[in-house]
This record gives sequence, C-alpha cells and structure tokens, in this order.
Amino acid sequence: MSQPVLDPRALARHLEAKQFIDGKLVAGKSGQTFDVNSPATGELVGKAAAGDAADVAAAVSSAAAAQAAWAKVPARQRGKLVAECGRLVDEHKEELARLVALETGKALRTESRVEAGVLADAFHFYGGLGSELKGETVPFNPDMLTMTVREPIGVVGAIIPWNVPMMLMALKIAPALVAGNSVVVKSAEEAPFAVLRVAELMGRILPPGVFNILSGMGPECGGPLVAHPKVGKITFTGSVETGKIIYRAAAEKLIPVTLELGGKSPMIVMDDADLDKAVAGAISGMRFTRQGQSCTAASRMYVQRGIHDRFVTALKAKVDAMKMGDPLDETTDIGTIVSRQQYEKVNAYIATGRKEGGTAHECSAMPADAKLAKGLYVRPVIFTGLPKDSKVVREEIFGPVTAVMKFDTFEDALAAANDSEYGLAATIWTKDLKTALDGARRLQAGFVQVNQNLVVQPGLSYGGVKTSGLGKEATLEAMLEHFTTKKTIIVNMA
Ligand code: ADP
Repeated sequence: MSQPVLDPRALARHLEAKQFIDGKLVAGKSGQTFDVNSPATGELVGKAAAGDAADVAAAVSSAAAAQAAWAKVPARQRGKLVAECGRLVDEHKEELARLVALETGKALRTESRVEAGVLADAFHFYGGLGSELKGETVPFNPDMLTMTVREPIGVVGAIIPWNVPMMLMALKIAPALVAGNSVVVKSAEEAPFAVLRVAELMGRILPPGVFNILSGMGPECGGPLVAHPKVGKITFTGSVETGKIIYRAAAEKLIPVTLELGGKSPMIVMDDADLDKAVAGAISGMRFTRQGQSCTAASRMYVQRGIHDRFVTALKAKVDAMKMGDPLDETTDIGTIVSRQQYEKVNAYIATGRKEGGTAHECSAMPADAKLAKGLYVRPVIFTGLPKDSKVVREEIFGPVTAVMKFDTFEDALAAANDSEYGLAATIWTKDLKTALDGARRLQAGFVQVNQNLVVQPGLSYGGVKTSGLGKEATLEAMLEHFTTKKTIIVNMA
C-alpha cells in the first residue's frame, strides 16, 4: 500500500488486527481483537488488535534495542528524518483524513481534513530543531572545564486520546524522536487505525524499533506500558482520572510524566466586544464542528448583561445553520459523538442541566438520512439560566454543550472564570486594552487569547495549570525539558 488509499474501508482492512512493532505491521500476540464501529452508521470499520502486556514487552524490547543506535545518529540528521516523515504524511493527508473521519465520526471537511492538513507541521517544526539540543558551559572554576549536555531519556511511552489522535500523537513523538529517544505509543480504543497508518508510513523512513505503536484497552495495554521497567518517561493526553492513575504508577518507578488533561475553558465577552467576531470565536472556540470534543472547548461563556441576549440569539442562529450529517459527506459541518459511552454521558449532562433549571436551546437538526438513524448524533445545546454550581458549568462534558452565563462586572466574570478546578485555556473579548491585559494576566489558565480562538500551534507553549495538567507541549523547551536529561560534566585541567 505505497500509494495513498482513498477508500478508508479498504485501508482499515489492511490495518486490521495489526500493531506496528520493530518496523513491521504485526498481529497481536494473543490474537484477540476488538471492534471499531463507525459512530455514524454502526458499521464495522475493522477489528483492532487488543494489545496486552506481551505486546508491550515486544514493542519496548524493540524500542530499547534500537535506541542506542538512534541516539548516535547526529541530531540534525534525526531531525531531517522526522521532517521527512512530515513530508510523507502530508502526501497521504487525504487518506488519513478519510480514515480518521470514518473511525471517529469527525466531519471530513471541517475537522478530519484540517487535522490531517496540519499534521506535517508538527514533524516539520521539530524536525528543524535537532541542532538546538545544546548544553551550556558554566564558569565554575577556571581550572575546570564545566559543561552540561542534553541526553535522551531512552524509551518513551506515549498514551494518546481519540479526539485529535494524529496531531496529538505527532506533538509527542516528533520531539521525543528528534531528542534521540525511541517511542512506544498506545493508541486510543476509539481511534486505532489512522495513527497506525501514520506509523506504517513513518516506518518507511525511520529505522525499525525506533517507533512502535500498540492498540488496546487502557488498563490492559496502557497500564503495562507505564509499568514496564525499561520505559523511562510517559507522556499522556486524556482524562484527569486516568492522568492520576498514570501519575501514581509513574511514581512507583520514579519516572517523569507529562500530563495534558481536561479543561473547562471560560470565554469572557464584554459589552464592548465586536459581537460578530465574538460569536464566530464562540463557534470555533467551542469546537461545534468537533461536537465539542476538545480539551480547550469554550464550554463556559460569561457574557456581559448588555450584550448577552444578542449574543445568545446570534450564536444559536449560527449553530442552527450548521449541518449535521455523514462525516464523509463534503457538505457536513458536524459529525457524531465518538462512542456510545460518550454519547450517553453527554445526554446525561443535558438531562442534568435541564433538571438544574437551565434552558436548553437545541440547535441545528438531526440528519434526515435513514442510514444514519443509528448514528451517535447529539444536537448542539446552548444552555442559559444555569446556576453557577451546576454540573454542566463545573464539569468537563466533552460534548456539544456550552453554558452561557450573564455577568455585570469584569471582576464578577474573572472570579467566576477562575472558580474552577481546571486551568487549560481562556479567551477574553473586548476592545478595551486595559481589560484585555488585566484579564490575560489574572486568568488562571495556561493559554489565554484576546479576541481570537486559535487551537494549539507548534512553537507556542501549550498545557494547563491546576488539574488541567503537568508540563507544557509544542515548543523547543518542551522537547528539552520533557524528552532529555541534563548531565553535568567537569573536566579538571589543573
Ligand atoms: P477518554 O475519557 O478521553 O477516553 P481516557 O483518559 O480514558 O480518556 O483515555 C485516554 C487514553 O488513556 C486512551 O488511550 C486510554 O486507552 C488510555 N488509558 C485509559 N486507562 C488507562 C490506564 N489505566 N492506564 C494507561 N492508559 C489508560
């Protein structure tokens, strides 16, 4: 399958029951598989290998054997190879987009193609940073040449989620590889195929063993990966609950972790904001096109009293105009929720919000197509009138549900925004410079934007405070801090 395969079903069949270990697509040791069904139609996309401790052992052993030689490849050359992976995935972006749309239900035009289109960027960004793995010289003693060097950690374990699986994987593996580590990834149960195809493509460029990918359940496959004695670092994106399990397991081995966890990101809209821009920002910020399945989803919108009603009306009109439908249909704006479990969780939150006294403004319309009748579609909901201690306001839903709340003063809005266990992202919408800067400084979040709502960008530090995570990603510093160790060397010349 050297040419791009634009039929995602054929591509899934090619990847069925396989993992990528030691440079090859191989069947899982136990032969066990699990079904991956299209959340739009219920059809079987393919059976994925249910990796377990035996597969972890094989992948880590291959990664450990390959790492020493990989670390000896000059850093810029490693970077060139990683950038080359970027070129190859870019040539295959349309097939990757189709496959990720089929397995996750993310609409092709508005989401899946966007993810596949920016994937190469992460490889190219880190691919150019090989020569930045520099140390320092230290003026410790004139008779002693004192320096630091950056060394790879060894084998890195990466555990990834399903919402933007290829991109979030790339932001972990590209820096880990350029820094001279080998990597074993555990993909998410809901989205094992597109990332496996990325691995297969990378295998044409990287030496065998340097990059491996397993699929399987969290405790049965992710658990042994974290616990494996030869894994020296875990980088994880997922839920707070699982993040804590991983942090505890890593503590047993005293290995470092990077955790990118949940969010409940506030959006503050002042009376003086440009209404049209704020509404457009609410649409992109809430990721309505991804059914709100984003850690940074603007799921709490604090809107000042003078603009509140117009904001809600305009937001609802815009979401109403978006089309829910088959993820692979070019005209679809909004696809499905990823899994039955998430679907039930999201619907339970909507029911809770209603019980708590909120008004649920349901937007858009269910798809009419009969073949989508069993699809995991949830109409986007804009809640108004919820009490501030509502579960819908406080907890991460990871679905197309946002709560709009009215406020009077900027101080009220800031206090409400910061009254959360999370601290991933936040936005402020205002024309007043002082309010913007004051808010940006005082909002408790790792990523604050004024009058815009961009997603994570290579080169900009990304990660949360409070329970949203530990450690930042997507920058040069992230590569140095998370994927290398610093060694001090003193040469006595006296
Ligand atoms: P979500 O709710 O988004 O599915 P999870 O945190 O459960 O979030 O999943 C994110 C990733 O963590 C997935 O790849 C999942 O398989 C993995 N995972 C879940 N439980 C564990 C665990 N106990 N140990 C290691 N990995 C796990």
